[in-house]
Amino acid sequence: MKKRPGEEKPVVPKEIIEQAKRAIQSDRVSLAGRCKVCGSDAAPNSSEGLCWVCRRLKISAWRDMDQQMSAQE
Ligand SMILES: [Zn+2]
Repeated sequence: MKKRPGEEKPVVPKEIIEQAKRAIQSDRVSLAGRCKVCGSDAAPNSSEGLCWVCRRLKISAWRDMDQQMSAQE
């Protein structure tokens, strides 16, 4: 049995590869989500839906609040 040239290579159309790439990218975006505050890409492991910048701002805001509360006591 003769093998036709190119038969051994899996033929995947470029369109499908591009679609797969886009699917992976959109999966990543949907997984990470968007920042609730500024709308940029959220941190991948953020369950709060915040980007790194807003997360840091939030944490620093918490620290400020803690300092103010402890100062009042
Ligand atoms: Zn943000």
